[in-house]
Amino acid sequence: MMMEEIMVENTRNNTEFENLPQHLIHHIMNYVPYNDAVKFSVLSKTLLSMWLSFPVLDFDYTFFSGQHKDRHRTFLSFILETVHHRCPHRINKPLQRLRVNYPNHYLNSYFNTIFEVLLNFAIKNHAQEIIFDICTINWVNLRSDSLLSLFSSEFLTVLNLRRFRFLVADSIILCPKLKELVISSCKGAQTITVSSPSVEKVEISFCRDLVYNNSKCSVDISACLSLKKCSNLKEAIIEAPKLLKLKYQGSPQVHPMQILANKCSTASIKLPEREIDYDLWFDNLKQFLSCFDHFKNLTISCFKVKDLIIPVKFLKNNESLLRDAKHIKVKSLDFPQGQPVRRLVERLFRLVHKPLKFTFFLEGVRSTLKFEYENKAKKRKRVERRCCLGISTKCWRHYALKVNIQGVNEKERGRLDKLFFHYNL
Ligand SMILES: [Zn+2]
Repeated sequence: MMMEEIMVENTRNNTEFENLPQHLIHHIMNYVPYNDAVKFSVLSKTLLSMWLSFPVLDFDYTFFSGQHKDRHRTFLSFILETVHHRCPHRINKPLQRLRVNYPNHYLNSYFNTIFEVLLNFAIKNHAQEIIFDICTINWVNLRSDSLLSLFSSEFLTVLNLRRFRFLVADSIILCPKLKELVISSCKGAQTITVSSPSVEKVEISFCRDLVYNNSKCSVDISACLSLKKCSNLKEAIIEAPKLLKLKYQGSPQVHPMQILANKCSTASIKLPEREIDYDLWFDNLKQFLSCFDHFKNLTISCFKVKDLIIPVKFLKNNESLLRDAKHIKVKSLDFPQGQPVRRLVERLFRLVHKPLKFTFFLEGVRSTLKFEYENKAKKRKRVERRCCLGISTKCWRHYALKVNIQGVNEKERGRLDKLFFHYNL
């Protein structure tokens, strides 16, 4: 084919393409990487205007190639060029998404200005999703009024901020349509209050400045709250009267942790590897677990089963730390030799008041123990003196235990039978 013919063919194809309705062209743009979608803009004036109104801004460093410095420079100039062309214009419908993915080690102050312009553009254009997934040594610094307008945006449904410095210690997130909030590796926030009525998921992780005594995380909504690895956290108040599920990942050094969440009965705790100081670990663990005394369903994940077997010297005689717990799940990466299930059951019985079910996932092997209680007047009288004085719901010690055991081998079953025979005496 001659060059002229190719040009005629291309022009004809372009014309056919640009005659498609705008929403179809935007749909097609959605399916190509953003930095390729930009190339539509140079094909014709019509396509340029389509690109300017494309309701997505997506800057992903991983789509760029080259050596470190070149790659960084190309990425930066791509953002700058886009900002220069697009940000002076308003788009005629809400911006669906603004996303920046920048997993680099270096962030110069230039980026602060660019991010500021991008955020203001997004807010002016009623952005629905804002995702800043930044992974750098330093933090993004924005003016406090930019953050304030972000935290009160009327249209936002998803907000994900990583590596930002909050200039206001008490951050209040008001966005009325917000469904998902993720705040990760951010600095400066000592208290976080979320008052968005429609929020379903809140995740706060690696926020080291949640450090001071009585750090407060307030969620006035029905949601699932995750608190992950905020390593300096010592004491905390989680005020979330309508909370549905609480997830905590990190050290058991956080206590007291006041969990004001009457409606929430399910919590999961993921513990790190046990610290070298044996006494400190178990002392912390005991106090930390007692903060979950009003949860009915509790999942505890640990590295090794023995990290969870609190020595008897730390436990007061017959005092149940987990008063309301009915179903305890324990997940562990290891399945130690010896008597893991029997020892775990024996120690959990010291922690839990009147359990209905234990489920264990030890090195991928699932086993369950279900409990039924039968009144046994003689037994009740015998233990009455020692526990549950003044408590209306008596603990497991006052009943004859009927146990249904599944998923353990013969040897372990024999040991468990012995244990329950002893409990039933
Ligand atoms: Zn009792």
